Amino acid sequence: MAAGDLITSAANTWCPGCGNFAIEHALKDILGEMIAAGTPAEEIVLVTGIGCHGKMADYLGVNSFYAIHGRTIPVATGIKIANPDLTVLCCAGDGDCYGEGLEHLLFAAKRNVDITLLVHDNRVYGLTTGQYTPTSPLGFPGRSTPQGTPEYPLNPVELMIAAGATYVARGYTRRLPQLRELIRDALRHRGFSFLEVFQICATFYNQTAYYDEHACDLDPGEFPTADAARALRVAREWDYSRESRIPLGALYETTYPTYEERLAEHRAGTRDPVAVIQRLFAERT
Ligand code: SF4
Repeated sequence: MAAGDLITSAANTWCPGCGNFAIEHALKDILGEMIAAGTPAEEIVLVTGIGCHGKMADYLGVNSFYAIHGRTIPVATGIKIANPDLTVLCCAGDGDCYGEGLEHLLFAAKRNVDITLLVHDNRVYGLTTGQYTPTSPLGFPGRSTPQGTPEYPLNPVELMIAAGATYVARGYTRRLPQLRELIRDALRHRGFSFLEVFQICATFYNQTAYYDEHACDLDPGEFPTADAARALRVAREWDYSRESRIPLGALYETTYPTYEERLAEHRAGTRDPVAVIQRLFAERT
């Protein structure tokens, strides 16, 4: 199957200038590469949530599941546990994943489920016309907060390193070559891969000029690091002030037995979880 065949004939209703187009094309390219290299198309599953990002399930020609709000991760986890040979990818939104689905996100990282999560973080609820989300900045004057939200935003990258995700990266929809690399690496990684993508919402929160000015690339010779403390320091460099730089790239990567591997051992009758983890870890390193 050629990469171009992965775009379906469904009418696309994203706004002109929406960053979702860049994510769609990056996914098309990388999934196309995987298929050309021998992964059967039917062994790739895409799970989406509710929001503008969710239409990816209609627009990409792979097996897909349109989950309810905030529930991409439990659906993807179930698919992976039942079918460990599948490549399972979630596309979720910032409201969807950091609001409605936050507890699932934390547990996926804690368990190290072997799925890839790509968050389309436009820092606004676009589909419902502009309410604030957990990553909207302090003072964001959305539809539900006309005088500005009084809350500070989450730093999802920091949160995921702390929660135990084994691959953590940040990309941007206007840096397409880097975004492709990050998607490729996230899908290759065995364990829970978390890819936060700054996605331009052209209609309700267009931060193009701000990201273009402040985004900078991590040194690929030094990152990703397996040193969580160092990765956390870099994650915190962007403190959501208008002045600080925004590091982009893969921050953190480590190896650890996956949830599915530990479940399989458990089902096989092993009853000493510490011994199982030690053995699995030794096999992987
Ligand atoms: Fe994209 Fe924003 Fe339009 Fe939704 S509302 S399609 S996120 S530009």
